[in-house]
Amino acid sequence: MSTYLGCIADDFTGATDLAGLLARAGVKVSLRIGVPETPPRNTAAFEVIALKCRTAPVAQAVAETRAALAWLRAAGAQRFFWKYCSTFDSTPQGNIGPVAEALMADLGTDQTIYCPAFPENGRAIFMGNLFVGQQPLAESPMKDHPLTPMQDSNLMRLLEPQVTRPVGLADRLCVARGADALRDRLGALARDGVAHVVVDAVADEDLFVIAEACRDMPLMTGGSAVAMPIPQMMIRDGALAADAIRTAPPALPRAAVILSGSCSAMTRAQVARYADLAPSYRLDPLTLAEQGPDDALAWLAAQDLETAPLIYATADPDAVRRAQDALGTARAGHVVEQALGALAVCARDNGARRFVVAGGESSGAVTQALGVDRLDIGAEIAPGVPWCYCDTDGARIALTLKSGNFGTETFFADALSKLETT
Ligand code: ADP
Repeated sequence: MSTYLGCIADDFTGATDLAGLLARAGVKVSLRIGVPETPPRNTAAFEVIALKCRTAPVAQAVAETRAALAWLRAAGAQRFFWKYCSTFDSTPQGNIGPVAEALMADLGTDQTIYCPAFPENGRAIFMGNLFVGQQPLAESPMKDHPLTPMQDSNLMRLLEPQVTRPVGLADRLCVARGADALRDRLGALARDGVAHVVVDAVADEDLFVIAEACRDMPLMTGGSAVAMPIPQMMIRDGALAADAIRTAPPALPRAAVILSGSCSAMTRAQVARYADLAPSYRLDPLTLAEQGPDDALAWLAAQDLETAPLIYATADPDAVRRAQDALGTARAGHVVEQALGALAVCARDNGARRFVVAGGESSGAVTQALGVDRLDIGAEIAPGVPWCYCDTDGARIALTLKSGNFGTETFFADALSKLETT
């Protein structure tokens, strides 16, 4: 199937967020982990390539995104979306602006928009200033981010040092007048040579206006939310072929496993809640460092996977600190991630076909261990967390990858029951 929209995301959880929002419209969305090594085959109507280039050196980020663009063009995509974080995470060097300029050059286009707004999650842009809830970006916790501290809230000022061509604004007063007014404003800015246009959005309806006004733009850039209306708009206009619509997911055996490596407050609550419902096993980084994962593997092999057992390294901040003091932060994380990967393979080899994974890095470790490089996006369990379907060692499985604070306390049980009803 030919691809309509080709998306490139600068990190993995951002890619799943975008893929989940696009899939809300009921269309086929496929997420690739890294640029596929083989030419496009069996592609979906909406393709998302997940890179890990948010804080990579500029030249590397540009090279990777251009390779992703080339693959998406070969898949037949005519329109493209460059996805970054809704808090515009970047340094004065990039990578948001340099990547956008490189993609524009490859596509031969003179203008793009920047809209990281995500009203559902409290990210709004007004007069070019980004707000996180009621706080300006530079007063939000993002001001102290270890890699990309955001110490200005004004998107034009943030973007200017990252690009070579002029930056402008289409403000909320214009967006509020509708798609024609916004299109006129973009045209006027283009005639003045403005290549990079920050577009205000404070509410969901603004996103629809923006999607409509930009429908002929080869490249749009932003957070995930501004892409969300695109499939809906295409369905409304009859612009998608019938096979772009998602079909029912495969019926999979019930054998399941829950693997948790996230230590966020919400994941801790989710683990505590689920441990009352199913057999559970706690991974201890110190034991793993000394003895490897054999005990855990033996425990898992003895479980009835129909009970969907839970294995977790999830711990409170004091316990995490103790493990980190003893092993070093990187090694503590590494032994847990290695164990989760080995446990996922063991579960699969013992027949598990439903996998719930908690933790962004933990998800990366599990997908890598299972050899997964493509995920087909299914029904949403919680905002930003869909079920995905993929192949591992010749078997079709359902997999959901939940980062840190996503979902409510009942997420693990919710995820399993959602699979029964879709
Ligand atoms: P989140 O999405 O919540 O940030 P991640 O999986 O991305 O979760 O990150 C959690 C990190 O903490 C991983 O590297 C994981 O291996 C590590 N970790 C998990 N449990 C422990 C623990 N008990 N002690 C130390 N580190 C841990």
